[in-house]
Amino acid sequence: MDNGTFGTRHCNHFNARGERQYTWALYDAQGIYCCRVCDACEEAKVAQYNPVIFAGYTQADVDEPINPEW
Ligand SMILES: [Zn+2]
Repeated sequence: MDNGTFGTRHCNHFNARGERQYTWALYDAQGIYCCRVCDACEEAKVAQYNPVIFAGYTQADVDEPINPEW
């Protein structure tokens, strides 16, 4: 049984041994909490976010392209 939703340390995914996957907190490059992920769903959950938030860019970088002339 899980003791609540926020404190849960295991995902709904199972590993090769049939145990629930251990999860960890996913943070963006600014250290902002996103969600908890396990090996099985890390990629899928990361894909739901804008990739730039994991690349260390600030909002100013997003709004102002560094090299606008292609
Ligand atoms: Zn998972």
